[in-house]
Amino acid sequence: MPPIIDENKCTGCGVCVDICAEDVFFGSKKGMVPVVTYPDFCAHFNCCQHDCPEDAIKIRVPLPQMLLYK
Ligand code: SF4
Ligand code: SF4
Repeated sequence: MPPIIDENKCTGCGVCVDICAEDVFFGSKKGMVPVVTYPDFCAHFNCCQHDCPEDAIKIRVPLPQMLLYK
């Protein structure tokens, strides 16, 4: 499931846009809250969530993938 960005916390720094190898935030502009352009491309590795300096991103890992982690 796609990342959820808290618009009240996000500063538009662009870290998540730069770090996402799947280009989920393709087309997002620096200084703006990122747009989740390709939600289905998200691989749920949580890189953006970990690196967001404002703790503004939540990742919902799908249940089947959660079970694979165990
Ligand atoms: S890393 Fe966090 S604060 Fe920076 S643009 Fe992404 S969601 Fe916003
Ligand atoms: S969890 Fe990974 S693939 Fe999904 S949006 Fe964040 S950096 Fe991109």
